[in-house]
Amino acid sequence: MTKDKVQKRIEELRKTIEYHNHRYYVLDDPVVSDAEYDTLMRELTQLETEHPDLISPNSPTQRVGAQPLEEFSTVPHAIPMLSLANAMTAEEVADFDKRVKKILNTVDVDYVMEVKIDGLAVELTYVNGEFSLGSTRGDGFFGEDITQNLRTINAVPMRLIHTPGFPVPEHLEVRGEVYMGRKEFLALNKRREETGEPLFANPRNAASGSMRQLDPRITAGRKLNIFCYAPGRISDARFQTHMEFLERLRRWGFRVNADPYVKLFRNIDDILAHYQYIRDIRDRIPYEIDGTVIKVNRLDFQDALGTVSRSPRWAIAFKFEAHEELTVVEDIEVSVGRTGALTPVAILRPVMIGGVEVSRATLHNEDEIRRKDIMIGDTVMVSRAGDVIPEVIRVIKEERHHNAKPFSMPGQCPVCNEPVVRPPGEAIRRCININCPAQIKGSIEHFASKRAMDIDGLGTKLVEQLVEKGVIGDVSDLYYLKKEDLAGLERMAEKSAQNIVDSINASRRRPFGRFIYGLGIRHVGEHIAGLLAERFRDIHELMRADTEMLLRIPEIGPEVTNSIVSFFGDTKNRQTIDRILAGGATIEYGTTDKGKLDGLLFLFTGTLKSMSRDEARRKVEELGGKTATSVSQKVTHLVAGEEAGSKLEKAKKLGIKILSEEKFLQIIIKE
Ligand code: NAD
Repeated sequence: MTKDKVQKRIEELRKTIEYHNHRYYVLDDPVVSDAEYDTLMRELTQLETEHPDLISPNSPTQRVGAQPLEEFSTVPHAIPMLSLANAMTAEEVADFDKRVKKILNTVDVDYVMEVKIDGLAVELTYVNGEFSLGSTRGDGFFGEDITQNLRTINAVPMRLIHTPGFPVPEHLEVRGEVYMGRKEFLALNKRREETGEPLFANPRNAASGSMRQLDPRITAGRKLNIFCYAPGRISDARFQTHMEFLERLRRWGFRVNADPYVKLFRNIDDILAHYQYIRDIRDRIPYEIDGTVIKVNRLDFQDALGTVSRSPRWAIAFKFEAHEELTVVEDIEVSVGRTGALTPVAILRPVMIGGVEVSRATLHNEDEIRRKDIMIGDTVMVSRAGDVIPEVIRVIKEERHHNAKPFSMPGQCPVCNEPVVRPPGEAIRRCININCPAQIKGSIEHFASKRAMDIDGLGTKLVEQLVEKGVIGDVSDLYYLKKEDLAGLERMAEKSAQNIVDSINASRRRPFGRFIYGLGIRHVGEHIAGLLAERFRDIHELMRADTEMLLRIPEIGPEVTNSIVSFFGDTKNRQTIDRILAGGATIEYGTTDKGKLDGLLFLFTGTLKSMSRDEARRKVEELGGKTATSVSQKVTHLVAGEEAGSKLEKAKKLGIKILSEEKFLQIIIKE
């Protein structure tokens, strides 16, 4: 390439990358995959390395992130918050190791491998142990002041724990990653899909969008979490190693990741093996990670290595290959959900992505299809990340055949053939026929779902048969169902019929919040249902509530209010509720949903590897259990960590159930 051409290409790449940076960091709405972005960045870095005279301080290779948004006040970072250099292959990691050892002039270097959480980097500042300021990374030098939003995250300690021997510094800055778990992300997008709001492309964008809300009440409803992993400026504490620093963070009350997600290694082969292990379990981790980070453990070594432009020389991100593949859209089908929303679904030529066969991908709505310009017959890039529903990322236009067919959304509901509507300002078409079988089935399935009335065994297939055969017409019919009604259905032996009737009977008593959630009122998810259950004495009071009363409840806005008022204003809905109650269902008032540890008393002894004791106690309490500080007959479970002491002996004598840390984790993690 001639110098001119190189210069032109560099300019082109910078422009494109800047555009993507803006979409990603500022708008939380990227239009290319991370892999594509990384390829552009690599090409630019390569060209700049070959032609150092063309490097400019404004090049994206020299800068981090994007400038802070003007809506927030800006916060300077005393120590810049940098990015990380990337490695894609084992050789690149080996090169990193060689470089580090060469600069340090020693072969004796320990590394810590951490998972690279796909979220938003933040800095938390504590003055005399009190949380005083929180900011985003921004462009590395200046971030956005998001203190109020960070206060809504339970895992961000407001006041640090003082323990003898571990004084809290006067000024302490700690960095970490705010993220949204997979489950929370899916639930959020589902809610947004129902309300016709634009969907977040991935949990990272959802976390970032939630953190940069001007109204902290919205952030509070978003179920975010944090792991802390790095120091900023610290006034008066000295650590020898990164591991020691993490341990100290844990003692002060920060949420810190643990083995196997943070692990110390003495050589590069073990690191590579651990990378494979993390990659294998990646989909089972409840939050998204996009790779691992390898860090030099000794802090004096880190200092000696220093930084180059936008990243430290003592760390490298060893990323995973992208979860993306090319395939063909063979058809586009439209499905109808319980709220009547019509969702286009791409039927794909089956393709393996990250070890799973993918044959369908959501296209969300017609605007998305238009924006991405997807036609039937197109070759497309499909991505699948963990549990997230596979998605068509983009069309490979160069591959488009002349016989590719454009798609348009039907004017009629594909299930009941009634005309559909698209309310102004919404992206979603809806079937508004309340007798549409798709909606009836959807609403029964929702009512019976685990988080609502929890009717075991009443799944999609069975509901479909029951509705199609006219055995039930709405949720209230469930409570009048007899074994004989079920007997005539396909593959329904007497025993299974009895099981279903038993599960329906078992669901006759459920807490108020779950009942409200089960009704499937638009915009009323579990969280809002919980709020309503706390505010209203009983279902009748809720049914009578007017706009004014509902609007007084924090977190409930006009849209939710309208939806609740119009739901209960509908005679058919009121009759359904009356019939449910007359059919023998009892709503439990005054009890919030009992957690699965309800009635159990936990005691901890020894050191836990994966979390602090406070955190473990909180977990138990969140699940409805109680915790004790000493051994007594009332204690039901003793969790024994490392170096468990006399409590363990006493508990054994009393015949208390003893749990290892692993067993305890299984209990609290399993649904
Ligand atoms: P990065 O994501 O490659 O790595 C640095 C970040 O990793 C840190 O700032 C921190 O937030 C995070 N991190 C998570 N866990 C960590 C841990 N345990 N220890 C240390 N850091 C940890 O760098 P970046 O500058 O934030 O972003 C660049 C990446 O973002 C690109 O590689 C690309 O994948 C993506 N990106 C995509 C687009 C797009 O349009 N798709 C645009 C811009 C950036």
